[in-house]
Amino acid sequence: MKSIQPKQHYPVVIVGGGMAGASLALALAQQGITCGVFEAFALDKPSQPSFDDRTVALSAASLNILKHLGVSDKLFSIAEPIQQIHVSEQGHIGFARLKAEDCDVTALGLVVENWQLGRVLHEKIEHHEGIDLFAPTRVTRLEQSAQEVSLRVETKEGDQRTEQVVTASLVVLADGARSPLRKALHIDSDVRDFETSAIVCNLSTQRPHQGCAFERFTPHGPLALLPLTQNRMALVWSKPREDVEHYLTLSEQDFAQKLESEFGARLGRITKVGKRNAFPLMQQKAETVFRGRCVLIGNAAQSLHPIAGQGFNLGLRDVATLSQCLHSVKDADYGHYDVLSHYESLRQADRDKTVWTTESLARWFANPWAPMSLTRNLLLKALDVTPVAKEVFAQQAMGFNFNNSELAANDE
Ligand SMILES: Cc1cc2nc3c(=O)[nH]c(=O)nc-3n(C[C@H](O)[C@H](O)[C@H](O)COP(=O)(O)OP(=O)(O)OC[C@H]3O[C@@H](n4cnc5c(N)ncnc54)[C@H](O)[C@@H]3O)c2cc1C
Repeated sequence: MKSIQPKQHYPVVIVGGGMAGASLALALAQQGITCGVFEAFALDKPSQPSFDDRTVALSAASLNILKHLGVSDKLFSIAEPIQQIHVSEQGHIGFARLKAEDCDVTALGLVVENWQLGRVLHEKIEHHEGIDLFAPTRVTRLEQSAQEVSLRVETKEGDQRTEQVVTASLVVLADGARSPLRKALHIDSDVRDFETSAIVCNLSTQRPHQGCAFERFTPHGPLALLPLTQNRMALVWSKPREDVEHYLTLSEQDFAQKLESEFGARLGRITKVGKRNAFPLMQQKAETVFRGRCVLIGNAAQSLHPIAGQGFNLGLRDVATLSQCLHSVKDADYGHYDVLSHYESLRQADRDKTVWTTESLARWFANPWAPMSLTRNLLLKALDVTPVAKEVFAQQAMGFNFNNSELAANDE
C-alpha cells in the first residue's frame, strides 16, 4: 500500500474499504473525483470483515457495473459462471429451473469468494490515481457544519496510536450493517431479526456442479449451494440460531451426512467440507440514506437476508447511482443537500422493492404450514413450465430491473 499521510481535506471521504466502499472509490476516481478511504482493518488480515470466506453471487447487472470499474477481466479468472439455477423444496417433487440459454445469455451471474473480490478491488485501487486508502485506520468521530464534515481518524501500529482530523465536503458511510457512525448521526433503522444464522463453508462433491446454483427450501430455512471454481461449491445453510453451535462443531463426516439428508443426492456424496462459519441473519433498513453531508451506501444503508443473494448487488447499485449523481456536481460541493436528496429519491424504489421482496421470500419459504407448502410447490412447478414467469424470474435473478447505463455513460 502507498505509504502516505492523509491530506487535511478531501472532496469525498469514504468510511469503510469493504466491497461497497472500495467499489465506490474506483467509480469516483474514474470520474476524476479524489477520495480518501479509511478502512478499520488491515487488508491482508483473515479478520477483515468484508473480505472473509463468504462468497457472493453477482448478477449480470452487477457484472456490468464491475466491468465499468475495470475489474471484470481479473474477476473472470477467479469466478465461476452460473449456467443454471435449480429451485426446489425438501419433501416435494415440484421444482423450477432457469437456464442461461433460455434467457439468451452466456451466464446468469458469477460466483466469487469475497476475499478474492477484495484482492482484485484493492489491487486496482493501489494503482489508481486519486484514491488514498488508509488501513488499518478507523474513523472514530464525525462532526458536521453547513460547509463540511470533520472526521477524527485513528491509526494503530503495534502499540502506537496516532490521531488526525480530516475534513470533507461529503462523507460516504460504507461501514457495514452495524455502522456506529450511522447511529451517531441519529439515523434510525428498521431491524428484523430472522432468529436464524447462515452456516457458510466451501465444499466438494462427488459429481461436478456444471455451473448449477441450487436453492432448496427446507422446514428450517433455505439452503443454497453455489458453483465455485475448481469444482467446489459454496454453501449457505440457514439454521435456527440455537442449533448453529451444534452444526459448527460436528465432525466433517457427520456434517456432510446431515447436509446430504436435506439437499439430496443431486451431486452425489459430499467429499470434503471446508472451514465453517456462521452469520446471524438480520435485515436492516435505514429510515433515510443521508443526513447533512453524510450519505449511506451498501450494508450501512440496508442489509438483507441472503436468500436471494441480493445484498451486495443492491449495494453496487447504490455505488452506480451515487457516482452518477456526483458526476455532474458543480464547484465540488459533493455534499450539497440537492445532490444527496436527488440520490435518495433515485434509490428509494429499488431499496424498498428489494428489501420487501427479500423479506417476503425469507418468511414465505420458512412457513411450514401445509397449505402454504402445497401452494409453493404448485408455483414452483408452474414457474418451471411458464415462459413469462420464467422471464420475470430471470430479470430478477440477473438484476436487469436496474438501469446502469448511467455508469457506462460516465465511463466513456
Ligand atoms: C451468508 C451471506 C451470504 C451472502 N451472499 C450474497 C450473495 O450471494 N450476493 C450478494 O449480492 N450479497 C450477498 N451477501 C451480502 C454481502 O455480503 C454484503 O451485502 C456485503 O458484504 C456488504 O458490503 P459492505 O461493503 O456494504 O459492508 P461490509 O462488508 O460490512 O464492509 C464494511 C467495512 O467497513 C469497515 N468499517 C466499519 N467501521 C469502520 C470505521 N469506523 N472506520 C473505518 N472502517 C470501518 C469494516 O472493517 C468493513 O471492511 C451475503 C451475506 C451473507 C451474510
